[in-house]
Amino acid sequence: MFRLKNAAGAGALVAAAAMTAVAWATPALAESTVLTNVTVIDGTGKPAQPGSAIVMTDGKIAFVGPMAQLKAPAGAKTVDLAGKFVMPGIIDAHVHVGMMHDLTQDEKYETPENVQADLKQYSAYGVTSVQVLGTDKDFVLQMRNQQRKSRPTMARLFSAGQGVVFKGGYGGLLGVTQPVATPEEARKLVDEQAAKGADFIKLWMDDERKTIPVKMPYSISKAVIDEAHKKGLKAVAHVFYLADAKELVREGINGFAHMVRDQPVDKELLDMMKAKGVWMVSSTLSREMAYSLAVMPWLNDPFFTRGVTPGTIEVLKSPAREKAVVLGYTMFPGLPYKKQVFSDMDRTLFQALENYERMAQAGILMGMGTDSGPNGRFPGFNAHEEMQLEVMAGRTPMQAIVSATSMNARWLGDTTIGSIAAGKWADLLVLDKDPLKDIRNTETINSVYIAGNSVPTIWQTCRDRPLSACQPRPADLPNMPY
Ligand SMILES: [Zn+2]
Repeated sequence: MFRLKNAAGAGALVAAAAMTAVAWATPALAESTVLTNVTVIDGTGKPAQPGSAIVMTDGKIAFVGPMAQLKAPAGAKTVDLAGKFVMPGIIDAHVHVGMMHDLTQDEKYETPENVQADLKQYSAYGVTSVQVLGTDKDFVLQMRNQQRKSRPTMARLFSAGQGVVFKGGYGGLLGVTQPVATPEEARKLVDEQAAKGADFIKLWMDDERKTIPVKMPYSISKAVIDEAHKKGLKAVAHVFYLADAKELVREGINGFAHMVRDQPVDKELLDMMKAKGVWMVSSTLSREMAYSLAVMPWLNDPFFTRGVTPGTIEVLKSPAREKAVVLGYTMFPGLPYKKQVFSDMDRTLFQALENYERMAQAGILMGMGTDSGPNGRFPGFNAHEEMQLEVMAGRTPMQAIVSATSMNARWLGDTTIGSIAAGKWADLLVLDKDPLKDIRNTETINSVYIAGNSVPTIWQTCRDRPLSACQPRPADLPNMPY
């Protein structure tokens, strides 16, 4: 409390308090934008609502409903979206940030500037939230904390801090993650992540088709999951083999960061996952596809090229890279172990697609995630590929959108994002064409809002080049490349 020196001072304070009260009570001083005449796809699976209006006030959705019920706040800015479609901003539940420069991966690139560049790239593609799975330096958690106190202008961060890698085994980011050798070390690492404020705990259980001599033992995964739960956190696992997936479900895992890819999922796994409410958080179909392509078919598609550096395009078009993928040489220089590109990646992709549909049909909780960020998987762009692959696997566009929005918010445990409803953050993706008619129409990005802030879209972006150096949006979408 202030001790007032004299009556004049007291008077000034009272006047200031009165002014504050006036400011709080006057709605005209709130910042509002009204979107009119738009078709709302609210992200919950409810049928699209044409002729709708949305009022965004101070970053939150204040109203969504029929135009006839719209009461626009005084002084609000109005944007007429006749003929357009709005869905919640996409949530990508499996990414890594700040890892790359052109197509070289190194922890030295994980700087605040590069992480911000990635988060802006995500939002340019309409991805308004990302869950980073286990490769974050501590500054990323600080950035996340800052975002949560403000109205961000780039994708929102959710972070698993540093994930748990078994010593000598697969996973993590060299120089950032600290591998563990015993259950005790694993518990200690989980405690450290929880103390730092990690939103989740990530573990890696894989041996890259037996090219790596060791794999995380079950005694360690069990300790990781148990310790995460003691700290009130969900545990999510990188998995490849069906047998490991079953074991992890028995140990209490909450979600999987990849699809099972060695063989078809069976009734035993599906029944266990359903009974325990285990999520397929991110099936990363676009990751499997990226590995299986000698020549990526989108290298001249402006939806792709606008978002990446000229150096990236040059490497992707190089005959050396094409040869490497075809012949199965490594295209991941600098990894701590010898790694091959697997000649049967297309089979792996088809196994993932088949298992995706089996899980979805069985009623498993399905999120959406891409594992973009590392080499050859592109922030934001891959989220659109992922939804297209889900539809190819047998889902409807509506189901793909629900997984990428309200389902992912449910996985994240965040009730303020993921659908278009009063009280939620105004994280919105506005499209020129109907994504329910053709899922590729999520690429017809008209505008993107995060917390009510209009942010630059991919069609207003041309990475590391002047805007005039990029191709404009084509009148028609390219054919599905697969
Ligand atoms: Zn990953």
